[in-house]
Amino acid sequence: MSIGTTAAPPSLSYELYPPVNRDATEGVFTSIQALESTDPDYVSVTYSGSPARRNASLELIEHLIQNTRLRPLAHLTCVGESRETLQNLIRHFISLGVRGVLALRGDLPTDPEQWRGEYPFARYLIELIRAVEADHSAALAGGRLGVGVAAYPIRHPESPSFEHDVEVLLAKERSGANYAITQVYFRADEYTNLVESARRAGVSIPIIPGVIPLNSVRRLNRLCAMAGIAPDPILAHALETASSDSERHRVGVDAAVNLARRAFDDGAPGVHLYTFNDHRGSLDVVEQLELPRTRARASNAWATRAAV
Ligand code: FAD
Repeated sequence: MSIGTTAAPPSLSYELYPPVNRDATEGVFTSIQALESTDPDYVSVTYSGSPARRNASLELIEHLIQNTRLRPLAHLTCVGESRETLQNLIRHFISLGVRGVLALRGDLPTDPEQWRGEYPFARYLIELIRAVEADHSAALAGGRLGVGVAAYPIRHPESPSFEHDVEVLLAKERSGANYAITQVYFRADEYTNLVESARRAGVSIPIIPGVIPLNSVRRLNRLCAMAGIAPDPILAHALETASSDSERHRVGVDAAVNLARRAFDDGAPGVHLYTFNDHRGSLDVVEQLELPRTRARASNAWATRAAV
């Protein structure tokens, strides 16, 4: 069965967290060097609205642009932010040379009064990005930004149903999203089901599976707490009963490779690897997937440079 939307060679991308201290900075620079050797289509940089983390995101993006051959995909979250702040950030991204933005709502602020604000849902951020882009068509030479969004193989924790999530994805496409990257999931059929349901509902954008090689139960639990999903009991058991660190590493890599292979069998247009700033697992996944080294990067331009 093929449920994907493109026959181009699969895209490869990684997610990085901006480092918050000197040790973490050295670690992430080492990871960037290692990941660069696999020639990914883009590297995504997570975002958080707190001033220190926001600056760290911008610094990492600048580092990628100035010192590497990697194309950054800038995450941006809108909840609790003012129009002016968001407009300024989008303009700043464009002036830095960023051509791809992942438009996200972000986690809800603890103050319930604050969260509705001007931008309660990612959809409105997409519309703002498109409006700012139109004002900067000269800088973009008439081209457009690639705008990605989040998609959920497992129901979003605040959503009334999986079907509602699919409707939200359709609304995000209609607001101008070019592609989606999935939240983590643990069973191959969760991705299949998402793509089939989305296509039935009228979603036509590429949906890229987000996959993570996990090497500890602690990390699995932390990730699931962040995503608001239940840890997979089979993976948790395999990690718990593994006899050594290298065995745990192998368990995590094998699980990620299986998910990616099954998604490719279903026609997935690429794979996005959540690295947790630890390149070793991701490199092993890429090696086992045997992705073509000369990927047709232009065919995957939807990610960081949407078509005019
Ligand atoms: P939305 O699409 O706005 O959806 C949020 C919730 O509102 C959902 O429950 C949805 O069903 C509901 N909803 C949407 N529209 C409507 C409507 N019109 N009416 C009623 N309900 C509606 N978070 C960060 O803080 N920083 C990051 O860098 C980051 N990167 C991420 C990268 C990926 C690939 C993914 C999958 C997630 C990432 N997140 C990040 C997490 C994300 O911010 C959260 O999952 C957040 O809770 C929802 O974001 P969203 O963009 O999907 O929101």
